[in-house]
This record gives sequence, C-alpha cells and structure tokens, in this order.
Amino acid sequence: MSVDEITTRLRQLIPRKRILTDEDECRLYDCDGLTLHRGVTPGVLLLENENEVVEVVKVFSASGVPFVARGAGTGLSGGAVPLEGAWVLDVHRMRRIIEMNPLARTAVIEPGVINLDLDKAASVHGLRFAPDPSSQRACTVGGNIAENSGGPHCFLHGMTTRHILSVRTVLSDGTVLDLDRDDGGIDWRGAFIGSEGTFGITVRATVRLIPRPQCVRTFLISYRSLEASCEAVASIIARGLRPAALEILDRATIQAVEAS
Ligand SMILES: Cc1cc2nc3c(=O)[nH]c(=O)nc-3n(C[C@H](O)[C@H](O)[C@H](O)COP(=O)(O)OP(=O)(O)OC[C@H]3O[C@@H](n4cnc5c(N)ncnc54)[C@H](O)[C@@H]3O)c2cc1C
Repeated sequence: MSVDEITTRLRQLIPRKRILTDEDECRLYDCDGLTLHRGVTPGVLLLENENEVVEVVKVFSASGVPFVARGAGTGLSGGAVPLEGAWVLDVHRMRRIIEMNPLARTAVIEPGVINLDLDKAASVHGLRFAPDPSSQRACTVGGNIAENSGGPHCFLHGMTTRHILSVRTVLSDGTVLDLDRDDGGIDWRGAFIGSEGTFGITVRATVRLIPRPQCVRTFLISYRSLEASCEAVASIIARGLRPAALEILDRATIQAVEAS
C-alpha cells in the first residue's frame, strides 16, 4: 500500500495536523538518543488516546506496513529508529495521570507521562516513582517500561520492572491486552517490560509508588585511584550497607565537568 493510500485511511481516524509526512518534519524522528543509527520514516502519527492507537495499528496490520512506537526519543538502544520504511507512532501526547491512589501507593498513567512529572505528582503525597534514569526530565514512563530503565536509585530500589504492577498493551493486530503482576502462571508483564516495544504498544500502566525518604545524607569522598574507589564500593556492598545511590566520577570526568 502506498504512502498516499495509507495517509488517506489514517486521515479518517485522526486529524490531518497530527499526521506528519513532510520530509523535514519526519527527519526529526530518524533516530533516538543514539544518533549513530538512523532510519527514514514516511510518516509520523501524533497519537492522543488508546482508541487511536488501536485503530491505526489495525490499519498497519491489515496493510502489512511496519511501525514503531516512540516516547521522548531519548533511548540509547536505537529502539525507536524507523527501519524498513516504518511509520512512527508517537505517544508522548498521551500524558495523563489518570489516577493517583496514595493509600494503595499506586498511580494509573498513560505512556507519555514524563518520568519526572510522575515523581513530582507523587511527591505531593510523600511518595516517589523510584526508577530515575538520568534522562528523567525528558523520558516517558512508556519508554522506561519498554527499556526496563534504571537509574542511580535502582541500586536500592530495583529497575523499572519492580515498579510496574500492570500494563495495558496494544498488540500488532490491534488486540488490547492487560498484563497483570498477579495473574499467576507465566509472567507476561515481566516478559513485556524491557522488550523495546517489539511485543506491543503500552497505552496504560499501573505503577507502584514508594515512600520518599525522611532525610537524605550525601557524602563526597575522594580517593587516590579509581581502583581504590571501586574497592570501597565493593566493601560497602559486602557489609550489607544499602546506600540509595552510589556514583563514581573519575579524574577526567571531574575535570571536564569543572571546565564546562
Ligand atoms: C542523557 C541521557 C541519559 C540517560 N540515562 C539513562 C539512565 O540513567 N538509565 C537508563 O536506563 N537509560 C538512560 N537513558 C536512556 C533512555 O533515556 C531510557 O531508555 C528511557 O527509558 C527512554 O524513554 P523514551 O521515552 O525516550 O523512549 P524512546 O527513546 O522514545 O523509546 C525507547 C524504546 O521504547 C519503545 N517505546 C516507547 N514508548 C513506548 C510505548 N508506549 N509502548 C511500547 N514501546 C514504547 C520504543 O519503540 C523504543 O524501542 C539515557 C538517555 C539519555 C539521552
């Protein structure tokens, strides 16, 4: 099916202004944070709700045209790169926090919610969303789920998969599936998280929130060598101490930061 034919069908489903086929506009979507790998997409769809995702996926499925999901495009694995003429299904506009339940310490969110926005919303209730990739100001929770992202605090609290209770996903034929943590049997939720969008598109998720720490102590320690600092990390862990985060900066990095 030609790009024009696909575009005509898509226009029956979503407004024209959210279907980008201009070459220059599409070029913005040719890579993710890893700019070494690029693809060319014939079109980008800016999707705003679950129903739109389902309906456009059905169009692509029926016509055999490839597509790829995209959140904020900060990924470093090339997962959102459009290969073999794939259309880009951009879900970053689906950014509603649908429900916040401080008592149950859960939130129900759309996939385009920015990681830091979720954490800020939770902080009002003394809670936090633990996965904190360094890109958290920009990356989406849908992207975190697809990449099973980590961050400095995942040392103590675990990767994204530990903080996702359920995922609603749209499969490649448009079927909507709810994957729950407590289903029993095969942990499809666990298999889905980290699959880089290859199993389906997340359209909703229930996330686990944890209490914010009552106080935070930060220590800065300098060592004579990188080896000595690594040994310190090993002995901290060996003694069963569980710091919230540990970060090592080598001399070259410190100098680069100070010079910047
Ligand atoms: C400066 C910087 C720092 C970073 N620091 C970290 C870090 O500390 N830890 C870490 O783990 N990563 C880090 N990353 C990588 C990246 O930010 C994470 O992988 C992040 O989770 C990607 O989110 P995104 O919304 O940008 O996803 P995108 O880049 O848009 O997509 C990433 C993958 O997820 C898929 N995807 C996106 N949304 C959906 C959806 N709704 N349904 C299904 N699949 C979807 C895409 O197809 C693609 O395969 C960093 C990146 C940068 C640029």
